[in-house]
Amino acid sequence: MRTLLLDCNYFPVKIISWQKAMILFLTERAEVVDEYEDQLIRTVSTSYKLPKVLRLFQTHKLSQNVKFTRMNVFFRDQFKCQYCEIRLPSNELTFDHVIPVSQKGGTNWENVVTCCKGCNTHKGSKTLKAANMKLLKVPKKPRWSPELCLRLLENDPVEWWNFFPNRLAS
Ligand SMILES: [Zn+2]
Repeated sequence: MRTLLLDCNYFPVKIISWQKAMILFLTERAEVVDEYEDQLIRTVSTSYKLPKVLRLFQTHKLSQNVKFTRMNVFFRDQFKCQYCEIRLPSNELTFDHVIPVSQKGGTNWENVVTCCKGCNTHKGSKTLKAANMKLLKVPKKPRWSPELCLRLLENDPVEWWNFFPNRLAS
């Protein structure tokens, strides 16, 4: 069971274990916004429902760094090939070095984009110009956002979606 942690402005900052959530709650650093109705934790003297959503009493400083990973590149590009705009599941996508590695193109946010296998084969190790292809948008390092940085799992509660302002489909 996981708990969605919000800052005092109801902005999602983290997904934490229920154990960690209970510590925050019991030490009065956070309040329960929503709870799992069917999950009880018993102590000697009392019992608590497991927190589903917890709100911190203070603001929380977010780490602004979005890790450069294959999956995060797909999320940034909304699972769309950056050449032909087709949207595919992650296992049917690959990524492309805009400036080819053979021409010293880096493996970083500014040079790697989501790509379908067809466009990837077509582009090969050519530059955009040589391949006569165009990018949908200039690749950049994305800003921190809950949609990008807090990965929801399939069995996470649907109520959490209410706190994700721009949830992307995965
Ligand atoms: Zn494509």
